[in-house]
Amino acid sequence: MDLDLLERTLTELGEPAYRLRQVWQWTAAGADSYQEMTNLPQALRGALTAAVPFSTLTVQSEARAADGTVKVLMRTADGRPLEAVLMRYRDGRHSLCLSSQSGCPLTCTFCATGQMRFGRNLSAWEILDQALYFRRLTPVDHCVFMGMGEPLMNLDAVLAACQRLPDLGISSRHTAISTVGWIPGIDRLAAQPLPLRLALSLHAASAELRSTLMPVNDRYPLPDVLAACERFYARKRRRVFVEYVMLAGVNDSVGQARELAAILDPTIFKVNLIPYNPTGTGLQGSAPGAIAAFAAELERLGLSATVRLTRGREIAAACGQLAAGAVAA
Ligand code: SF4
Repeated sequence: MDLDLLERTLTELGEPAYRLRQVWQWTAAGADSYQEMTNLPQALRGALTAAVPFSTLTVQSEARAADGTVKVLMRTADGRPLEAVLMRYRDGRHSLCLSSQSGCPLTCTFCATGQMRFGRNLSAWEILDQALYFRRLTPVDHCVFMGMGEPLMNLDAVLAACQRLPDLGISSRHTAISTVGWIPGIDRLAAQPLPLRLALSLHAASAELRSTLMPVNDRYPLPDVLAACERFYARKRRRVFVEYVMLAGVNDSVGQARELAAILDPTIFKVNLIPYNPTGTGLQGSAPGAIAAFAAELERLGLSATVRLTRGREIAAACGQLAAGAVAA
């Protein structure tokens, strides 16, 4: 819902200022339409239905996996595709994976989004409407910006959306922004007041390999990126999650685990190993045994390491798979 358009419309209709708050409260609580907003006069509900689309996005398709994961392909009003995912975990968490851009200007070789043409930055309302779509299905409590796009290249809109997520039930402490290492954005994120989490997509400890997997490494070299993360920690006192996608025969040897441990301060960084989901890039995921050995070596060297639970693989909703459907669409 475009709240700027809503505010202008309410003003033009001569409505009191509290109407905006009323509409937002209903929307954030999961209302399906203006008609549900019973403390609004009936005539106003009709006028808003005609003047302010209930969502800035239209749903093109929705896929549901047996594990409860829901992936939705949406389009903006100007036809740009984007995807968002709801993941239900056994411990009761309902976590959203949101997109910040339609497509992505960066070209990480393992990522389906990187293979698709970049469209544009999404507005705050387009980001928020992804979360509202799922809020209408179920209560939600966690959020990661790990869908399409590099969120720190669109930080104003991402932060504006994050300001409102607590109204949906997602606190800033339960919201993580994932970056490939966009240094100006990391510093801005550290300087703003919300207690958001930072996650760094790292994927390789050596400069050569990282540049092969993630060309952005040439622009922002890893030592500079890690220094920016350390500044973030110094300011926010929140540990930084390192995301490391496990690629068979590429970055998954025990020796590479040692290289990784050598560059990460265990008081600042926690490592999250991500089993790779095939995206047609030619890369293969590591075997479970290789992931376990990698994690054990990190732990032996004093670095906290977890292995991410894979959700929604069969509907291409797992990490690195977003946009596969959108490319074909
Ligand atoms: S991994 Fe992230 S930054 Fe890299 S191409 Fe994919 S969406 Fe863009």
